[in-house]
Amino acid sequence: MPSFEKLKIPTTGERITFNQGKPIVPNNPIVPFIRGDGTGVDIWPATQKVLDSAIALSYGGERNINWFKIYAGDEACENYGTYNYLPKDTIEAIKFFGVAIKGPLTTPIGGGIRSLNVALRQIFDLYSCIRPCRYYSGTPSPHKKPQDLDIIVYRENTEDIYMGIEWEAEDQICKDLINHLNNFVIPNSEKLKGRELPKSAGIGIKPVSKEGSQRHIRKAIEHAKRLQGNKKHVTLVHKGNIMKFTEGAFRDWGYDLAKQEFRDDCITERESWILDNINKNPDINTENNARLIEPGFDKLTFEKQKIICEEINQVVSSISKSHGNNKWKQLVFIDDRIADSIFQQIQTRPQEYSILATLNLNGDYLSDAAAAIVGGLGMAPGANIGDNAAIFEATHGTAPKHAGLNKINPGSVILSGVMMLEFFGWNEAAELITKGLSKSIKEKQVTYDLARLMEPKVSPLSCSDFAEAIISNFGS
Ligand code: NAP
Repeated sequence: MPSFEKLKIPTTGERITFNQGKPIVPNNPIVPFIRGDGTGVDIWPATQKVLDSAIALSYGGERNINWFKIYAGDEACENYGTYNYLPKDTIEAIKFFGVAIKGPLTTPIGGGIRSLNVALRQIFDLYSCIRPCRYYSGTPSPHKKPQDLDIIVYRENTEDIYMGIEWEAEDQICKDLINHLNNFVIPNSEKLKGRELPKSAGIGIKPVSKEGSQRHIRKAIEHAKRLQGNKKHVTLVHKGNIMKFTEGAFRDWGYDLAKQEFRDDCITERESWILDNINKNPDINTENNARLIEPGFDKLTFEKQKIICEEINQVVSSISKSHGNNKWKQLVFIDDRIADSIFQQIQTRPQEYSILATLNLNGDYLSDAAAAIVGGLGMAPGANIGDNAAIFEATHGTAPKHAGLNKINPGSVILSGVMMLEFFGWNEAAELITKGLSKSIKEKQVTYDLARLMEPKVSPLSCSDFAEAIISNFGS
């Protein structure tokens, strides 16, 4: 047990540990929580009450959470001193107790201080950020059919431009780097020859690794295996048509992983297309099949035709027995989409998608866009999961102008708590909360953000009354 400078550990309860990336959760875990800045003062007490009530009602005292208050952000500075936004105590507590939940935190501007949220993800190597977006009936939405969207954004959380490796345009290191690239690297590269970086540019680095991509996509596929019907589907989202060796590689490594590690559980879009066509025409030879499968086959070079025929042979000989005759329809379906096209498709054909596995920046944009379709940030939960720790958090910020007014929507942190209960395997309590929340929204018992969009207008509930409404609707 670590010793803490200022924290008071609960006198009862046990720690959550991890075995090969899976949590081992006792019936009385100690769970550290960070109240959060700004509206955290309103949201956290409301959330804690809802979670405790659902657990008590579901398990009658057999299970309970021992909450352990830890500090980050403004509250940490008040307790540990100026600029101590993320004290050692907090890091040690999360490391030891494994799972934490947090309200929103202010990102200090300037002074070289990194985002606390990004720092926590990197310190604990929480490599997958999971943001489910589903519609609760009655929630005002700008879309005609928000109920068609039921997706989970799996956003890679530790790499990509979020590693923060960048230099300002005026920085001497940046100038030296541009010189080096313009004078040595580019002229010596066959494919880059003739290009030149503007001398006044700022530079950012976008690292995307095979291990980083595959460990994240592995989690997404494992999640898809637990889903039913056409929700057993992972879409690899990328901008590989432009960034071939980062975004394009993410896609390729994803397909490799699916075929190598999940061969019995997965089929790719391309393979299903091949098997489907072969099923319809089992008697024709590979070259004729290739003509059916590949439009313009006859016009391709001999080399390309050969590759396609080999691919078809390989798919048919290795997986047609286990995956053919429509058996692949029960497996996890893996496809990929270019990032800009998926932004359109979650609006025009949302029912076709389930899990979207993305890189860091794409996932950031996409999860907010998806949240907007189902009712906005007040209803968008998030979890950051690694192999040895997990932090559940609001996806919105501290909304400082609403802080302390008992007004804000606590839905995002409450739903993050639901994700935490599901992570524990405490599904009964998680279901009670989603039921209570659904009923409250259906009955128009909502906070100001949703109330103002409802037609006809309704009087908003306070933050704490919304929590009470959820609890009183558990039984419905
Ligand atoms: P914000 O705090 O997310 O608030 C922007 C607006 O979003 C609010 O004014 C409010 O809109 C709406 N909103 C936010 N939370 C809501 C909730 N729970 N219920 C209903 N509506 C909600 O964004 P910001 O003002 O740009 O950022 C403030 C601080 O938060 C910054 O320091 C930022 O770095 C930080 N931040 C932290 C996190 C995090 O902790 N994960 C995430 C993002 C930003 P209306 O006023 O129109 O109702």
